[in-house]
Amino acid sequence: MRLDKYLADLQIGTRKEVKQLLKQKRVKVNGSIVKDAKFQVEATQDEVTFDEIPLVYQVNFYYEMNKPAGVLSATHDKVDDTVIDLLQPNDFRADLFPIGRLDKNTTGLLVISNDGQLAHRLLSPKHHVAKIYEAEVQGDVSAQDIAIFAEGIELEDFTTQPAQLEILKKETSADQVVSLVRVTIAEGKFHQIKRMFKAVDKLVLTLKRVQMGGLVLDDQLEPGTYRALTVDEIAMLE
Ligand code: URA
Repeated sequence: MRLDKYLADLQIGTRKEVKQLLKQKRVKVNGSIVKDAKFQVEATQDEVTFDEIPLVYQVNFYYEMNKPAGVLSATHDKVDDTVIDLLQPNDFRADLFPIGRLDKNTTGLLVISNDGQLAHRLLSPKHHVAKIYEAEVQGDVSAQDIAIFAEGIELEDFTTQPAQLEILKKETSADQVVSLVRVTIAEGKFHQIKRMFKAVDKLVLTLKRVQMGGLVLDDQLEPGTYRALTVDEIAMLE
């Protein structure tokens, strides 16, 4: 590929800015200064340096974040902080976006990437990628609720695919029962889990996504922190 494209893909600068950097003799290929933007480089073989720092060609970036409550899973917002605002300046790229939305008060696993094809595969209902959540639900979740979730629930705009509902724990206080549950859904429609519980007359108090496909939320990640996914973890998503 052309050297200016290689450098622009790595966000060293726009194609125009990169041309200036080349003129300033700041880029070397295999040890020699190259000033020609059209110079052809082999991304996996040639050693390209910028200001003597070796570059590694990478087009797609993948992170997992433990989304905190109170932050939007969007790229920008006039009022609230977004998950993209939580990225360190070194990791920021204008093309990064969260794959699949979590509500403002939902926490847990959020994949941030610039890979549109991966986003399509993860979010398309056709691909049935499981999304697993843990929720605290006000009320006594019953065997009947489990059966209703497994059957599929008719919501206003669509009928949910069969979902797996497991009861992990129940806490009973003087006047109420709170059930801790685990829910596995195949889609990810707007407020889906909250609406599914509403359909069985229950209120979701807290919601946390703990898994997407085979990728389990890294329990070392504090809320609001993130890390790059490994190649094996990216494969686990599908
Ligand atoms: N379902 C919801 O209701 N909210 C989320 O954030 C995710 C799934």
